[in-house]
Amino acid sequence: MALASTRPLVSSSDLPEIKPQTQLTVLAGPTAVGKGTVSRDLIARHPQVWLSVSATTRPPRPGEVDGVHYVFVSEDEFDALVAQGRMLEWALVHGRYRYGTPRGPVAERLASGIPVLLEIDLDGARQVRGAMPDAQLVFLAPPSQAELERRLLGRGTENAAERARRLETARIEMAAEPEFDHTIVNDNVQRAANELAVLMGVAGQGG
Ligand code: 5GP
Repeated sequence: MALASTRPLVSSSDLPEIKPQTQLTVLAGPTAVGKGTVSRDLIARHPQVWLSVSATTRPPRPGEVDGVHYVFVSEDEFDALVAQGRMLEWALVHGRYRYGTPRGPVAERLASGIPVLLEIDLDGARQVRGAMPDAQLVFLAPPSQAELERRLLGRGTENAAERARRLETARIEMAAEPEFDHTIVNDNVQRAANELAVLMGVAGQGG
């Protein structure tokens, strides 16, 4: 499948260099902590923030729209984006599919003074720190380890090995917190989103 020109990540030649600045905020945290819910709440109330649209090799879920929720690409397309230096960061998530942040659209927003939010995994956050040391890294934490385990283990249908694997992943992910500039506890979605808005400097601004 060829990349169509209407898609946001492929406007061919214009790949502006990203300059260090503080307009870029990365929201990361352990699996199942609720990053997507918090960022959606923030965007709904502060539409002047631009939420980056990631590219992924994962197939769309029902209701997901190409170019809106993700840009859905093939393995070959993803390889090409990486080889051409078009990914600000990318990672293999849960050992399965690749996800990455297209560099061009982020750079364009930042150049126009638009605050940008990336909602990505911990590996990706580390790469952004390396590429853009002035980016603000925010760790979204669960109210407690017990609550994270409850969210991760869901209805308890997993077998013992899968439960152990998920808990070990959560332990490793939680240990990343000190690498971040700020921690927000996701005890309440609106409160957490408000705190993120304050960190992004958009609190009190509607849209
Ligand atoms: P899902 O497949 O459920 O939409 O997302 C799975 C995971 O991929 C989430 O933890 C999300 O944070 C992560 N993710 C989504 N987009 C990106 C991205 O562009 N880069 C990285 N590194 N991770 C991403």
